[in-house]
Amino acid sequence: MKREYPCVEIDLCKITHNAKTILSMCSKKGIEVVGVTKVFCAELSIVQAMLKGGIKHFGDSRIQNLINMKDIHCKKTLLRISMESEAEEVVKYSDISLNSELQTIKVLAEAAKSANKVHNIILMVDVGDLREGVLVKDVIGTVRKILELSNINLIGLGTNVTCYGGVLPDENNLGKLIELKKDIKKIFDIELPIISGGNSSSLYMVMNNTIPKEINQLRVGEAIALGKETAFGESIANCYDDAFILKGEIVEVKEKPTLPTGEIGRDAFGEKPHFKDMGIRKRAIVAVGRQDIKVDGLIPLDKNISIFGASSDHLILDITDSSRELEVGDIVNFRMDYGCVLAAMTSQYVKKYYAKELAMSSI
Ligand SMILES: *Cc1c(COP(=O)(O)O)cnc(C)c1O
Repeated sequence: MKREYPCVEIDLCKITHNAKTILSMCSKKGIEVVGVTKVFCAELSIVQAMLKGGIKHFGDSRIQNLINMKDIHCKKTLLRISMESEAEEVVKYSDISLNSELQTIKVLAEAAKSANKVHNIILMVDVGDLREGVLVKDVIGTVRKILELSNINLIGLGTNVTCYGGVLPDENNLGKLIELKKDIKKIFDIELPIISGGNSSSLYMVMNNTIPKEINQLRVGEAIALGKETAFGESIANCYDDAFILKGEIVEVKEKPTLPTGEIGRDAFGEKPHFKDMGIRKRAIVAVGRQDIKVDGLIPLDKNISIFGASSDHLILDITDSSRELEVGDIVNFRMDYGCVLAAMTSQYVKKYYAKELAMSSI
């Protein structure tokens, strides 16, 4: 089959394997895993690979992605705080949504009523990261008002950390959720079944046995896709970190100096570039660029290749020491970090292929 470049090659066996590993680690602690699909735009084949790994509950930030998954038999959570304007779709296509605004929850209640449904919500609590969520002091008041609404079922509390503020999850901030659950039980005599304790950054607490026992759900994307926990960026044992490989084609190979000639102004992105004089180097241009990838998130599989930089559509490599002699037309492979997978999977200029029947090396 003729390939088009640039492309991402996705190894579905590795995704299935990672999903199994994370799931087994979490279920030993009584934690449900919501498999998060946004980094790969909820591509159905990858969703299926996670399903095969045992994930039964999926989460995405975008309602369009949940709509695309409508025929997949699983539970679905909308992760980004719902927009009022999409309330009808939220009620129709998600089983659960994460919320922090009473005004929107009221609109969801109306939409649920019109659809003759009861919509489940998790109330997000901000325990310090300063992204989404009701402040701890406002939770009880908000819960009181939610409980007055019909067609809305409050099924839990959740939090998100290590996203905006970089705050790490710990027993102290996750403990706030647990205290709130207990307060809600005391004040309103209701038992909230779900305490959703964060994303891939909470996995380290599962691994080192510090996750509080009341936390019974995590929403995990990056760890399944890239085999990494995100609190400290450590690899997770028995997970693959190369399920997504970017492949790009070389369109120019030339020996050139490392210092540009002429007065240096701003580059195509308005930044003032800096150069280190390394003499004459063999450079390759790969036909992919900042419209499709995050340059500092690319890791060449050949450790002897390094990246000089990129503009919108040209990636410039130093191939002087490459393990293999590279020519125009050759393909260069890269691993990617989270931001880079996100960009590549979203770019319509990057083709997606699945590596089928690749021998699974035993790890
Ligand atoms: C993206 C997202 C996640 C998943 O985060 P990862 O770091 O990929 O595990 C979990 N919860 C919410 C609310 C999110 O937006």
